[in-house]
Amino acid sequence: MKNSITALACFICMIGFGQENFTAKREQMVKTQLIARGINDAATLFAMQNVPRHLFVPDNMKTYAYADRPLPIGAGQTISQPYIVAFMTETLQLKESDMVLEIGTGSGYQAAILAKIVDSVYTIEIVKPLAVQSKDRLKQLGYANVNVKWGDGYHGWPSKAPFDAIIVTAGADSIPQPLIDQLKIGGRMIIPVGPHSYVSHLVLVTKKKNKIIKKKLIPVRFVPFTRQKEPDGNN
Ligand code: SAH
Repeated sequence: MKNSITALACFICMIGFGQENFTAKREQMVKTQLIARGINDAATLFAMQNVPRHLFVPDNMKTYAYADRPLPIGAGQTISQPYIVAFMTETLQLKESDMVLEIGTGSGYQAAILAKIVDSVYTIEIVKPLAVQSKDRLKQLGYANVNVKWGDGYHGWPSKAPFDAIIVTAGADSIPQPLIDQLKIGGRMIIPVGPHSYVSHLVLVTKKKNKIIKKKLIPVRFVPFTRQKEPDGNN
């Protein structure tokens, strides 16, 4: 009996320690990888501090969840480095009332970060198992304001457009016109653009009444933006 109580206490203590450890790692990540590199938008920092990144990576990657790098998430895809997630989020200058479209759901982590900041997030993933997995994960974790769809994000989500902001998390060789069309006047889009398998640049696109402004920001590497031949999934 005594032994089993000790074992139970030990188990509870291990769980407690594990949790604490991830919280501490997350705090450390925010300080050393984000604040130290100039991220200062309060909403972005709050979201990065509060979304449990270790619950968005495969079990064998959990210990590296807060490392300063992208990680594999299966199907040959990756979850971006924390700094890139924060940089892209901050650059969009989001307001609570914004409606945001993400192309490239992947693990669902970027969508969860957005969901902490804005009212509604729409996200499209082209790899069906990833779309299904992140939809379940986000639901289980209580992100009720995220809508996940399987399909080719090139076409955007016309029935929900226009959007205040669009974030593309796969490297495209050019900016898809349907996404520009689905931005509100005054809307912002951030997208990695460049030739495949070369370094691309994050580009900030701002839609004004009579013109589109494109600003080249930092160099980045992303998995490629791919295209789907068969009809879109409708889940
Ligand atoms: N934002 C993700 C990481 C994205 S990795 C996260 O937080 O985990 C890029 C993702 O874009 C991959 O999952 C890839 O399958 C997806 N992708 C590539 N081309 C796409 C397209 N045309 N439409 C939708 N998703 C696409």
